[in-house]
Amino acid sequence: MTAPVSEFREWLTTFLPGDYYERYRQYRWDIRLRREYQRAAFEAGWIQPTWPREHGGRSLSLRDAMEIRIQAALCSAPKLPNIAGPNVAAPGIRQFGTPEQIDRLLVPLLRGDEWWALGMSEPEAGSDFAGLRTRADRDDPNSKVFRVNGQKIWTTQAHESRWCTLYARTDPDAPKHRGISCLILDLHSPGVRIEPIRMASASDETFCEVFLDDVEVPVDNLLGPCNGGWNVALASLHHERQMIWVMNWVEIKRGLAALQSTRDPDIYAELGSLLADAEALRATGYRALSNELAGRTSPEADILKLLGSVTLQRVWELGAAAAGPASAGDADLLFERQDALAATIYGGTSEVQRNIIAERLLGLPKG
Ligand SMILES: Cc1cc2nc3c(=O)[nH]c(=O)nc-3n(C[C@H](O)[C@H](O)[C@H](O)COP(=O)(O)OP(=O)(O)OC[C@H]3O[C@@H](n4cnc5c(N)ncnc54)[C@H](O)[C@@H]3O)c2cc1C
Repeated sequence: MTAPVSEFREWLTTFLPGDYYERYRQYRWDIRLRREYQRAAFEAGWIQPTWPREHGGRSLSLRDAMEIRIQAALCSAPKLPNIAGPNVAAPGIRQFGTPEQIDRLLVPLLRGDEWWALGMSEPEAGSDFAGLRTRADRDDPNSKVFRVNGQKIWTTQAHESRWCTLYARTDPDAPKHRGISCLILDLHSPGVRIEPIRMASASDETFCEVFLDDVEVPVDNLLGPCNGGWNVALASLHHERQMIWVMNWVEIKRGLAALQSTRDPDIYAELGSLLADAEALRATGYRALSNELAGRTSPEADILKLLGSVTLQRVWELGAAAAGPASAGDADLLFERQDALAATIYGGTSEVQRNIIAERLLGLPKG
């Protein structure tokens, strides 16, 4: 364990309540503790460890940052209450934001004082993100505001968020992916209506529909260049994927640990296969990291997303099979299975990942 990782562990042990692990089932959903954790982690520089101190970091290496992320998950550190903020919106703001945007938005986001939602998916444009129809028009080329009309869906936590990275069509005549811009939308603006969607699972990461009716967004709120939203989205997805495989891997380890005491020989073959896939996931993650450290493009990102999410689902399905009929009454197991179902959808569905791997990595012809 490197020095920063040991320091993080010590810090975490000091931060957590003495009975945290005994009462983990309650603490897991304790929003006050999770908010305090985010604030304290920001002050201590653990939120984005590669960034400088004023931006919630310690200027550590990518390798240390990844080990800290893994360590946090292995120690069941409290989950950040609004994951999309620090892990998806913040890197985008830092990469594409103007100095004024960074000054105004980054610290409240990283401390957890202002939550963020991601406004990408629409009812007719999920996997086909480039097909989005929400429009952001200017009355004339000198106008200081965009007028936004349209609808977003599956916008996690929009009802509790202050801001949204909203992707909208700003040039309807350009090829689909070249006419999109990313706007920083104040969700308290007139004309924004947010409707939470009733969830089947116990998750507190509520989905919402966001309706936009003549919403005025200042042109100064463009994140990145006008009509350059495609690249902002790709960068955001890249950051999201760096986080997702680690989250998946730790959950897989947790599920497998629970299964290894099982004495049911019927599950051994699948258990062995899952142990091997968990190791393959970890090794591929490290290969992606070493490519990134060497400044090479990393072809592993799509494989990590696909392998991590599919393996996670298989782990909890095996958990249910091993538990037999008792699994139906086990609320924790039910939650894990439901939660894992989402993993092959968010951040790019498995079918789409398979297409990308087939076409771009394996060079197979388009179907
Ligand atoms: C937990 C969770 C959180 C989310 N949070 C957000 C959020 O905060 N903000 C946001 O904008 N979105 C969010 N989403 C939405 C998510 O990004 C979309 O669900 C995803 O992009 C898929 O789009 P869709 O649901 O419209 O399905 P569709 O794109 O309609 O796909 C339906 C089915 O068709 C398949 N399919 C589609 N295209 C192809 C193809 N070319 N080849 C083969 N198969 C194909 C898909 O794999 C899928 O099985 C979230 C989703 C989940 C599950």
